[in-house]
Amino acid sequence: MRQVTVLGSCGAFPEPGRACSGFAVDWDGYRLLLDLGYATLPRLLAHWPDGAVDAVVVTHEHPDHCIDLHGLFRMRFYGDPGGPRLPLYCPPGVLDRLSGLEPDVDLHAVFDAHPLPGGHQVGPFALTGLSLPHYVLNAGIRLEADGVVLAYTGDTGPTPALAELGRDADLFIVEATDRDGEADRPTRNLLTSTEAGHWARRSCARRLMLTHFWPGNDRAASVAAARKEFGGEVLAAEEGLIVPLG
Ligand SMILES: [Zn+2]
Repeated sequence: MRQVTVLGSCGAFPEPGRACSGFAVDWDGYRLLLDLGYATLPRLLAHWPDGAVDAVVVTHEHPDHCIDLHGLFRMRFYGDPGGPRLPLYCPPGVLDRLSGLEPDVDLHAVFDAHPLPGGHQVGPFALTGLSLPHYVLNAGIRLEADGVVLAYTGDTGPTPALAELGRDADLFIVEATDRDGEADRPTRNLLTSTEAGHWARRSCARRLMLTHFWPGNDRAASVAAARKEFGGEVLAAEEGLIVPLG
């Protein structure tokens, strides 16, 4: 089984019944998480009821992408003390934020941390983490296995690095925050859905999945805007949506 399951699709804070950024990747029995924002942990446990995870990849330290990593830490720390450490790939600021919540324990008792941006072999995947423009260090993620590429932006402003990140991807998961006036901001740290479509086209990705929708946005309008730029399939991330890979 090779697939991505959407755990959460909201940017900033979750809408009712939804969650913030998070994706569960199943690849021939290997289990990898991409981001763990607000309210993703219960959905992760609904998807993998035994809670077993092989690796976690977090793009950046903002809580809508990493706060439920704290819950996963507690599950391991209290629920499986002395168990094997969980490989965690993230910019250093992620663990700095978490240690503020758990000042009395050593996070490395649970996590085997590896830095991003950078390159790593993660189970079956060659992982490349590319620095993308955001308010804090954000690593866009490219995973390659058996000639299949899954790419994910985390949060990003417009940059030619997006074409490199998603180059020939089977599925390019791109944030489409679409805040009011986003395209006119003097410093760009987030995308519009039009830009998401543009960079998917520039990357020659096969499919585009929009995510990180600002709460209250018209998601159908975001998809329509991206479709004007990108001729491949355009999906909207939706909690529980399963997308086959390859
Ligand atoms: Zn975000």
